[in-house]
Amino acid sequence: MRDGLDRSISILQGERPAPMAGSGYPADQADAGSSLSEADRTEAVLHSARAQRAEVEAALARIEEHSYGKCVDCQQEIPEGRLDARPDAARCVGCQGKLARRRR
Ligand SMILES: [Zn+2]
Repeated sequence: MRDGLDRSISILQGERPAPMAGSGYPADQADAGSSLSEADRTEAVLHSARAQRAEVEAALARIEEHSYGKCVDCQQEIPEGRLDARPDAARCVGCQGKLARRRR
């Protein structure tokens, strides 16, 4: 899964016209205007691919810490069905739902 994301990210980065200076993220201009250019769309996809990769990285780190499969919020075991659907899930459905509501 991580390798697949790495590939997607490098392909997307290859499509980007602007060179990436250093390792910092470029300023997010997607919110600035309503008309998205091709580069902006690529940037948005790249951004979500990076976010997903970070989730996968975190899941891999949890596997190494033997805390994988446990909700990071309530420490309950995450049901296997959920892990099948979202192998990088860090929270049980209940805590994820609470988090989503908090973010709104
Ligand atoms: Zn939980």
